[in-house]
Amino acid sequence: MTSNINQYDVAIVGFGLIGQICAKVCSKYNLKTLVIESRSDAEFSSNAISFDDESLRLLESIGLYDSLKVLLNKPDFTDIVLTNGRVIQRNPVLNTDNGFPSICTFFQPEIERVIREICKADENIDLLFDNELINFNSNDKKIVLDTKNGNKLNHFEALYLIACEGTNSFVRKKLEIESVDQRYSKNWLLIDILLKENDKLENVFRQICDDTRPTSYISLSNRRHRFEFQLLAGEQHQKVIQKNNVQNLISKWIEPDQYEIENVYIQNFRGSFAKSFQKDYVFLIGDSAYQMPPYASQGLNTGIRDILNLIWKINLVVNSNCNKNLLLSYSFERVEQVKQTIKSSIALGQLIDSLAMAFQKNIPLEEAIAPEARDQAFGRSKSIEDKNLKKGIFSLSQIELIKNRRLSNREITNNEDMGCLDKIVGNCFAIFSRKDIKNKLDEGVYEKLIKLNFKFIYEYSGYSIGSELSEYLEIGEIIIRPDKKIFGLTSTKLNINQLASELLMQIE
Ligand SMILES: Cc1cc2nc3c(=O)[nH]c(=O)nc-3n(C[C@H](O)[C@H](O)[C@H](O)COP(=O)(O)OP(=O)(O)OC[C@H]3O[C@@H](n4cnc5c(N)ncnc54)[C@H](O)[C@@H]3O)c2cc1C
Repeated sequence: MTSNINQYDVAIVGFGLIGQICAKVCSKYNLKTLVIESRSDAEFSSNAISFDDESLRLLESIGLYDSLKVLLNKPDFTDIVLTNGRVIQRNPVLNTDNGFPSICTFFQPEIERVIREICKADENIDLLFDNELINFNSNDKKIVLDTKNGNKLNHFEALYLIACEGTNSFVRKKLEIESVDQRYSKNWLLIDILLKENDKLENVFRQICDDTRPTSYISLSNRRHRFEFQLLAGEQHQKVIQKNNVQNLISKWIEPDQYEIENVYIQNFRGSFAKSFQKDYVFLIGDSAYQMPPYASQGLNTGIRDILNLIWKINLVVNSNCNKNLLLSYSFERVEQVKQTIKSSIALGQLIDSLAMAFQKNIPLEEAIAPEARDQAFGRSKSIEDKNLKKGIFSLSQIELIKNRRLSNREITNNEDMGCLDKIVGNCFAIFSRKDIKNKLDEGVYEKLIKLNFKFIYEYSGYSIGSELSEYLEIGEIIIRPDKKIFGLTSTKLNINQLASELLMQIE
């Protein structure tokens, strides 16, 4: 790093998985990044167990996927079953339109170890372990950060602060951002095991509506497996985590002499979210902004979507001199989405409990669960309130039609049938059209788009275009944002010059 060591574009506090991935995305945009982490370099967490295809897509775009893929496991299927083995829902794990499996499981310490080393070698990232953020103060130019390393105090300056410090976020509390409790709280026992010999257990991601206690069994990578057991009312934590109890609980699957226990702990599954994910130039990401019970495996994936939403905007302000006000769109675009994800996760937990209860009491399953609860649990609810999206970086005239759509990687495929939209567009804005449209743009607008590294994409020989993009191209031209969300489409009432000007007005 060439600049003064104490001055950064971005300071990230917390180096859990979200802080790690956030640091790599910042680096990809050439942002000088400081990471402050209170733990030592030898400590790792083991909570999250899976990435979805959107997260894998982001990992590929920042060059992490190739290093991580040997540590990822593709389960044969995900399912929800009853105690007697009856399958309520089963989905094979297939590659999606993003070109990745819908879900891949992993053992978090293995993933963290690799990303850490990659971040350490990254010239844009300065990593400080054993440093706790204890205070910060901001004005409209910079944020001054105070950290504590033993008895030593350190001071740093950054333009932006990103809080990735997990559930008990100091930053959220200091900013006095109110957190809304979703009134859901269940304690679960989590157990990670490593098999001594070859893998004999099923390669599945399974939720079991067990009538004695809801349970999850998930096959991770490289002979590792996760078991999760809901605690029953009155069970004492100290007793539950004892080795003989743990062995007894998992004896249905495997005998004690066939594995080592790597982690045993009790976790409170709850739902809550901060009313706003930002204040001035300080942003909350991942668990520092919200908690959700992990039934739908979305906490980490949702944090990765936060990163995807925020960092390109910071890049525009820092590296392209765009208007700081565009950063306000981060919270507007994310809070409502996250609220829905939390609701779905809680609904899925309630669905599992209801099914277990129905089985125990011999009630027909259809009577045990309201159809709307099923829809919410499986993410089919249509009631998503997107009103705040109107304040996001989207064309106002197109908001209903495009509904916050993100183009999949396979909307453009090459001769080998590989999705390559991400490679073609990179981390920039892009205009897709049937013909070269540069001459339809005013000179001033064109020059500004070039300064913003806009890609003009109109030559498709050697590629196939997917059905969604083809449909839009039938109508006119389309502008997509660096996160591949659609900014807007042209129409008979809105030409490309007007659409591009509208975007410039929102970000300049
Ligand atoms: C049982 C379980 C299963 C899960 N499974 C999945 C799943 O399959 N898929 C999924 O998407 N999500 C899953 N999740 C959710 C996921 O684990 C979390 O959302 C994610 O790990 C949060 O990461 P984070 O980096 O935001 O927070 P954390 O991992 O909590 O990291 C925060 C970091 O900040 C540091 N820190 C805190 N305060 C300070 C400070 N003041 N100064 C410096 N450093 C500080 C901490 O030391 C820590 O390293 C699961 C969660 C649980 C409990």
